[in-house]
Amino acid sequence: MIATSQQLADVLRPVKHVLLDFDGPVCSVFAGLPASEVARRLRVYLQAVDAQDLVGGGEETDPLVLLRRIADARPDLAEGADSALAALETEAVRIGKPNPGGEAVLLACARSGRSVSVVSNNAGTAIEAYLRDHGLSGLVAGVFGRVPGDPSSMKPSPRLLHAAMETQETTSRQCIFIGDAVRDIEAGHAANIPTIGYANKPGKLAKLLAADPIAAVQSMEIIADALVAL
Ligand SMILES: [Mg+2]
Repeated sequence: MIATSQQLADVLRPVKHVLLDFDGPVCSVFAGLPASEVARRLRVYLQAVDAQDLVGGGEETDPLVLLRRIADARPDLAEGADSALAALETEAVRIGKPNPGGEAVLLACARSGRSVSVVSNNAGTAIEAYLRDHGLSGLVAGVFGRVPGDPSSMKPSPRLLHAAMETQETTSRQCIFIGDAVRDIEAGHAANIPTIGYANKPGKLAKLLAADPIAAVQSMEIIADALVAL
């Protein structure tokens, strides 16, 4: 079920720290430079280090899945591949598309005295570049991108959520996590943080609900509105 404004208000009232996924809620990272093109360029990088056979032909178009495969098969290449991908992600966010309501949530958190930490499988350097370009850095207390060279840190691992909570010196009871993927909700469960599923595309809602979020929404604006109304 989609959360009503009242349900959202109840969920958000005790929250002091908002943990926010990046790709989806804040920005559509690969809207300008498609993920499939980023994956292709990552393969070109692998050719250059003579390791193209690691990830097969062109069938996998998710660069983060490729990174995980590379690190599993050749841990010695993980760091180099990660920084090659981070550079591509930085290029992508520069022509990515701001997500409607993403900035409104950042502003609503600032106005209501709640901190925001971005917790994402994307590279922290790319996220920071996006926030700088859009004048949003001052609205974000911390950026927790994947640990460079260590894709096992990515969600559904709770590791990045734990890092954000530690930095904010808080506990899961004062936090909420907002993400648009099943792995976000799984990471939230693993970290014991209630997670709002953001269904930003048709057909995503059922999948997110099956992962048992504390609430589900179809727009970020409704979260911003609920925060402002509290
Ligand atoms: Mg996402």
